[in-house]
Amino acid sequence: MDANPRYRGRFAPSPSGSLHFGSLVTALGSFLEAKSQGGQWLVRMEDLDTARNQPGADSDILRCLEGFGLEWDGPVVRQSLRLAHYHAALDTLLRNGLAYPCGCSRRETRHYSGTCREGLPPGKIARSFRFKTNALEIAFNDRLYGLIRQRLDQETGDFVICRADGPIAYQLAVVVDDAEQGISDVVRGADLLDSTPRQIALQRALGYPTPRYFHLPLVRNAQGVKLSKQTRASAVTPEPGTLRTALRFLGQPAVPPEVGDDLHKIIEYAVQHYDYKLITRSI
Ligand code: GLU
Repeated sequence: MDANPRYRGRFAPSPSGSLHFGSLVTALGSFLEAKSQGGQWLVRMEDLDTARNQPGADSDILRCLEGFGLEWDGPVVRQSLRLAHYHAALDTLLRNGLAYPCGCSRRETRHYSGTCREGLPPGKIARSFRFKTNALEIAFNDRLYGLIRQRLDQETGDFVICRADGPIAYQLAVVVDDAEQGISDVVRGADLLDSTPRQIALQRALGYPTPRYFHLPLVRNAQGVKLSKQTRASAVTPEPGTLRTALRFLGQPAVPPEVGDDLHKIIEYAVQHYDYKLITRSI
């Protein structure tokens, strides 16, 4: 298929551990979407959470993707090298009155009531920066989950986009990166459905376009818990059986035995026969 300059997707793992079956499914789903449409597929390392980064996980994930035949386009972007971009976005929001410094401690903010919205009360120092939410409903059409609506002022309240001692929040970094990398389509796990309205609000506040969203079903273990590095899901290694199982999880047609066990051949077959309508919701 001809290269399609209008489609640009991405896989954005956090290097907090090796690729497990759940993250493989996300990588595979976003890859198949991009490649079946002749688009580009980028990889971005979301390594801002330094406490959770694991030494070696970054190169481990990349080697594993390569092993499965999931080859990315262009250089791998690392969030830790892009801090200036996130701080520039934060400055824009502050300058336009769309974010504000907040002096409340974590304990005080469980149900944040906007204490610092109109300015830091005397005697308080900034501990974080919050995005100012409003009463407008944010709605978007997810390609799998359909119409999703959220009133941020009621459901998340003014949320933290940066801590005063440095760390940029995931919500802000992902929005800046998706925009600056020209991502047209975000395909990722359904655990992030909930974050999407916050990201759309940030996109609007920063004058960025909103990509299309396609949230993939979550892989759960026998106890019904989402596979994750936190629940110690085991690492996958590039093997045809694992790839076939991941394709089956995404509802894709079985790869005939004559395609063989070469992972690149299996991926090629999967791209050619990919049909997003065969993917079904998990929640
Ligand atoms: N880094 C996030 C994760 O590992 C994914 C972010 C995204 O795809 O927007 O869950």
